[in-house]
Amino acid sequence: MIFLESEVQVPKWVSRIKVPIPIESLKFVNVYLIQESNAFSLVDAGMYSIRSFHELINRITSIGLRINDLESVVVTHFHVDHITLSPILYELSGADFYLGLKDESALRRGFDRFIGKALRLYKRHGVPQGEANEISRYHPAMRIIDVYDNYLREMPWIPLAERSEVELGNKRFKVIHVPGHTPGQINLFYEEEGVLFTGDHILDRITPQITLMDEREDPLGDYMNSLEKVSMMNARIALPGHGEPIVNPSKRAKELIEHHKQRLNEILEYVKKKGEATAYELAKVVRWRTNYSSWEEYPYPERFFAIGETLSHLRRLELENKIEKRECANIVKWVPLV
Ligand SMILES: [Zn+2]
Repeated sequence: MIFLESEVQVPKWVSRIKVPIPIESLKFVNVYLIQESNAFSLVDAGMYSIRSFHELINRITSIGLRINDLESVVVTHFHVDHITLSPILYELSGADFYLGLKDESALRRGFDRFIGKALRLYKRHGVPQGEANEISRYHPAMRIIDVYDNYLREMPWIPLAERSEVELGNKRFKVIHVPGHTPGQINLFYEEEGVLFTGDHILDRITPQITLMDEREDPLGDYMNSLEKVSMMNARIALPGHGEPIVNPSKRAKELIEHHKQRLNEILEYVKKKGEATAYELAKVVRWRTNYSSWEEYPYPERFFAIGETLSHLRRLELENKIEKRECANIVKWVPLV
């Protein structure tokens, strides 16, 4: 069935709750509430902060529900703005909590390992020691590392495999694995009405960050395949983790593919022009869509993502045989092959 854009509306069975978060560049995360008589479920939990919690509870109460009517929560991915309120909601409700299979196992490995690994990777790719330390210190998840290490890991997560289904309210949703933004991000598809909950896989206006955490992986390749997958699903409307609902998600998915193809070309051109360069040197010259006029003005969390994003593109170019690594004194430089 083909849906016309003019017919698209947010379904009545979903309430979007704009939950404020202490991340300046995003300001809000969308938590979606699906109600069925006196019970309800959520897609995403929100962020561990008193303002987030307060706003979420206020909205739940204003709909005429109570937190102990919460039956299920599906968290789209393990990022701080989507998952860290989970332990409190779990304590209060005892609801079932679901997470994509690979994100669930990453969560169990612990946050310490994640940040330590990122730090080593960044230094190997030319980030000076002092700057790498500052970058990791200011990572948005650092201030609530405790939530990851002591609470999230202990929760009885129910992992969701590809092609499984999950029931929320009286509706059955297909679980779609969309790795890229995280290794195990999931989307939920209610096929009967063409409604897709996209987490941070597809966002309007902003492009989700795709960062490299392990040199053997290919998150950008995974992400572009996941975009292809969604572009072929003929969803009518996407309900994303940030910003407004997206009419015609297939079109947006194709735009995002195009964006990354252009960025791949841009980075390849820089490598060719420089002859050899580290990821750190390249991250500083890429034309990121920001208002900062120089690298020194970039806040540390933005630097973390700029370097990670550059690395994910370099890795893809390496797999396409367009560039290769030259290692000297434990520092990796990239050289062109084309
Ligand atoms: Zn997010």
